[in-house]
Amino acid sequence: MAKVTTFEVGYCTHVGCMALRGAGFRVCKFPARAYLLEVGDKRWLWDTGYSYHFSEQTRNGVFRLYSAVTPVYFDPQEALVEQLRSQGLDAKDIDGLILSHFHGDHIAGLRDFDDLAYICSGEGWQKISHLRGVAALKCAFVPGLIPSDFESRVSFIESYDTFPLPAELAPFTQGYLLPESKGEIILVPLPGHAAGHIGAFIQTDEGWTLLASDAAWSPANYKELRGPSRLANFLMDDPKLYYQTLRNLNQLYKNGVSIKLCHEGDL
Ligand SMILES: [Zn+2]
Repeated sequence: MAKVTTFEVGYCTHVGCMALRGAGFRVCKFPARAYLLEVGDKRWLWDTGYSYHFSEQTRNGVFRLYSAVTPVYFDPQEALVEQLRSQGLDAKDIDGLILSHFHGDHIAGLRDFDDLAYICSGEGWQKISHLRGVAALKCAFVPGLIPSDFESRVSFIESYDTFPLPAELAPFTQGYLLPESKGEIILVPLPGHAAGHIGAFIQTDEGWTLLASDAAWSPANYKELRGPSRLANFLMDDPKLYYQTLRNLNQLYKNGVSIKLCHEGDL
């Protein structure tokens, strides 16, 4: 069965009620997580967390606002590439890097890896890739974080075979089979939070787990169907779809499926 290893790669802070309505104005810590997924001798990364490149790219111009709104705490030793190296792994040991979406705190480490194959939503990339300046900032997309040869190394999930999901994963009925994952990693759109936002159902020894990325910021979002501040709607790709995805997560939670988020922390 597939193995999931969690890494925390820096964190940012902002007030709790932004992520969870009614949580008050306490400043909370939101870790940026990345995951290593393994099936047999195949390995994939899920997002990258923060990196030195994030502070470089948000130091000047309009993107300064990004690091001002979500102050980032990151020690270069925490870079995903360094944490993998300490486990004896480098880029050549990785078969692909899956991007859950294109927000800066998920793609910041891309340029730390050479020659990786990338996997993401083609629909999302179409929507985001041409954005620059304020239009990009509004989507929390920092174009300078994308390696120049990204498009020659990316494959889109929409080109993968569709795969039926077991009844216990209702209301999700099908997804895209990650090639060479032996049916143990199925990619699914989780729309609303950001353009091209995806998750992955992983079949582990403990049962199915959903990597739900930023479909929620706190478990209370889906457990209690208590969303973030209405202000957060301005940052979302589609608030209506976000709440539909949250209801789908709520049903999975009630069915006993485990859900892992990228930023759950103090809340
Ligand atoms: Zn995000």
